[in-house]
Amino acid sequence: MVLSWATIKRPVSTRETSNMAATFQHDCPHCKTRSCLFMATACSKNERFTDKIHVDAIFRCANCGGQIFVSYSTTHANYENVHFIPGAIYLDPLVKIRGVLPQVNPVDVPEHIPDRVAELFKEAEDNRADKRLESASASYRKALELALKVHTPDVEAFKLEKRIDKLFSQGKITESLKDWAHDVRLIGNDGLHDLEKPEVHEVEQMALLTKYLLIYLYTLPEKVRISRQ
Ligand SMILES: [Zn+2]
Repeated sequence: MVLSWATIKRPVSTRETSNMAATFQHDCPHCKTRSCLFMATACSKNERFTDKIHVDAIFRCANCGGQIFVSYSTTHANYENVHFIPGAIYLDPLVKIRGVLPQVNPVDVPEHIPDRVAELFKEAEDNRADKRLESASASYRKALELALKVHTPDVEAFKLEKRIDKLFSQGKITESLKDWAHDVRLIGNDGLHDLEKPEVHEVEQMALLTKYLLIYLYTLPEKVRISRQ
């Protein structure tokens, strides 16, 4: 079944959420909170199906207020109205969840990077999504250390700023990338010994810088090589 917002035809009920509202648990595609609580706000019976009762319901994230669309089927006549389902609808044996939209986007890992670097980058992105900022920062640094070491084997381990300077002096990265790297405080935390907790915006800058360095050093050269074949 292809789900789309167009399948919601006529809301049969809309009300403010309360403690009695039907709930759903899901990773929020809007605020990225894992296993977030969602509260039912509206629903409509989907008349296209005749074998069972099929319902399209809207749920609101308790954390950010963003909405998701949950399609379910049921054999219980009262459950045509989502508000008559007591509590967590995914735990109710009379409810079968058929689909949830939108889904959380998978982590966008740059192409053509070494497998271990890809693992660390994904780990860093997951940690950042879960607000584990120190773990995220450490994983970005490890990903960069591994990725840049290939290009700067003569630079002392975990001296990322020196590796980046070396890459620039070899003409392998642009001046703007080098200057950006020097502006990102977390890049300068040699050996992860910095005692100050990283701020959200600092980890976001680290994430973006890591991504662009990986694209510049691995993804683009390989795409160019493939294109010229
Ligand atoms: Zn949310």
